[in-house]
Amino acid sequence: MSSISTDVLIIGAGPSGCVSAAYLHRQGINVKVVEKSQFPRFVIGESLLPRCMDHFQEVGLLDCLKAEGFEVKPGARFLRDDIVCHFDFSKKHTEGWDWTWQVPRADFDNTLAQELIKRGVDIAFQHEVVDVIFNDDGSSQTTIKNAEGEAYQVKAKFIVDSSGYGRVLPRLLGLDKPSSMPEHSSIFTHVNDLKRPEGKEGTMITFDVLDKDTWFWVIPFSNGITSLGFVGKNEFIDSFEGTTTERMKQMIETSEYYKKRFSGLDFEFDPICIRNYSKAVTKFYGNGFVLTGNSAEFLDPVFSSGVTFATESALCSAKLIAKQLQGETVDWEKEYADYITYGVDVFRTYVEEWYTGNLQTLFFHRPENPDIKKQICAVLAGYVWDKTNPFVRKHKRIVANLAHLINMEKEQANR
Ligand code: FAD
Repeated sequence: MSSISTDVLIIGAGPSGCVSAAYLHRQGINVKVVEKSQFPRFVIGESLLPRCMDHFQEVGLLDCLKAEGFEVKPGARFLRDDIVCHFDFSKKHTEGWDWTWQVPRADFDNTLAQELIKRGVDIAFQHEVVDVIFNDDGSSQTTIKNAEGEAYQVKAKFIVDSSGYGRVLPRLLGLDKPSSMPEHSSIFTHVNDLKRPEGKEGTMITFDVLDKDTWFWVIPFSNGITSLGFVGKNEFIDSFEGTTTERMKQMIETSEYYKKRFSGLDFEFDPICIRNYSKAVTKFYGNGFVLTGNSAEFLDPVFSSGVTFATESALCSAKLIAKQLQGETVDWEKEYADYITYGVDVFRTYVEEWYTGNLQTLFFHRPENPDIKKQICAVLAGYVWDKTNPFVRKHKRIVANLAHLINMEKEQANR
């Protein structure tokens, strides 16, 4: 078997792998990216958060993305019955980006990868990692199969596993553990949005809350296509019969707000169903490797945090890898695992409190409290490490406590 050597092997060319490669390449570190599929390829995860703009900017990937003219996302709208809760990213507690994009990921990820290739980064498409062996000093030999099915080896000083749902190292090293999140599933597709209304109504990203556990996303792209997806308990997804196309068509009819706009439209592809999408691992790093993005942990799509964690973890770990390769000591537990876990745990609380109904009580309570809204908005923009925000610092209690107060007030008013 032939063999090549590199400093860092990156598995996967999604946003996580690309941000990692961009940073390391700029530091003069030799990287090789191996990507199982041929780009452009479809992947779900189309609504970004302002926080990830910081990451793309820091590694110099913002300009190539701006040139694509993706649909700007200045906030997000949540609907329940007749109540609208609209978050505007320019009105948030934490300073930072007040907009981001809603993107077809095939184009978005391909833009990132092509920009890296232009800069001289070695990305091998249709090359799949099939095995890895680690030595005591953390260096490794990875076996990769190319499109022709031929195997070769890559010797690396360090591996970044950014393989997303491929979960390469969690599978090969037995690092998977059951997620603490409730078992939820999703079904989604794209439509040519022929009845899209003019103006903001047509382009605004919206989460239509069908009941406490079930919601419907509408993510319009600048190319006239709109992403539609339902999320709910497995029982909800299973309560519809037929093919994924038939089930999705029936689900669209359950949205009072959107059924007129989307019923009767053909789907761009047969709807895809992902069951039990939440993932977790026993550890985020080991001797000679780190897990970033979805390969490490995925909570839930409700607040669109996936890509932002993918790029945050990629950038944070790339900086530590550069330090380590320069001979400095890195405390991976403190500088990586603890840091990432802090942000993930803030979002975990918000996801959990969404499905307990407590966060929905806050979102749809009227009149709105502008200060509270700004603080929650900063969390929804991805600024979950800002401890000046009480909705970050006290995340474990604050949502539940406020919802309790609102419910008590309502009870008293009804007496
Ligand atoms: P990916 O983007 O998945 O990239 C991983 C790459 O690794 C892939 O290209 C894959 O081909 C490659 N790969 C896999 N195995 C191998 C192998 N053996 N060898 C080589 N390469 C390999 N996130 C958001 O931010 N916003 C959203 O709106 C959103 N909606 C979602 C909706 C649903 C229903 C679900 C389930 C998730 C959603 N997410 C969302 C999460 C989002 O999909 C991920 O968090 C994001 O794509 C992670 O990026 P990544 O770079 O880690 O992985």
